[in-house]
Amino acid sequence: MLRVGITGGIGSGKSTVCLIFETLGVPVYYADEEAKKLISRDEVVKSKIIDLLGEDSYLDGQYNVPFVKKAVFKNSSLLTALNEIVHPAVKKHARLWMEGHSDKPYVLKEAAIMKKGADLDKIIYVSASEEIRLARILERDTERSKEEIKAIMKNQFSPEYFKEISDFIIENENNLLIPQVLAVHQKLLTS
Ligand code: ATP
Repeated sequence: MLRVGITGGIGSGKSTVCLIFETLGVPVYYADEEAKKLISRDEVVKSKIIDLLGEDSYLDGQYNVPFVKKAVFKNSSLLTALNEIVHPAVKKHARLWMEGHSDKPYVLKEAAIMKKGADLDKIIYVSASEEIRLARILERDTERSKEEIKAIMKNQFSPEYFKEISDFIIENENNLLIPQVLAVHQKLLTS
């Protein structure tokens, strides 16, 4: 079983591309969603976050997002420490999830933060210009401002970085997605 990462900047179309892979029967691990679940349910993760940021990190057992956002905003060492709690937990959870799908030819792990490493055999990069990503996110997330989206983009990896680490690129500008997904799928089935 191949472990395949699928990555790209905000609004590049990672989830959309993953849905196409899912229709082909490929299991997909959505790292962001799983991170949120671990943060709200995993007792070890929860207690580490409380140790780091205090009891206010959870309100009536629910993750207190505004409080945490405020605490780590402009405090990069706290943000790093928070990531050092969440990222290894997600990595371990993803590894166990992948082991549970070892009968499949390959599985996908979708994440905006991705590094080339021993836990992934191949990486797919979903690419689209900043302009088109901004327009799509503004339409999808009506509560988000242009400035907020641009700030997120600025903090993410560059297209050059993604190209460097990836084995396959899916262009999601004005290109058809399905034929590109089918081509990558065939290559992964035969590699
Ligand atoms: P995020 O990083 O926020 O999780 P993402 O990379 O997973 O985003 P999607 O959610 O798949 O991106 O796509 C962003 C928005 O753009 C969605 O509303 C999606 O429906 C739309 N979109 C994606 N690809 C296309 C396309 N080829 N044509 C039109 N709209 C698209």
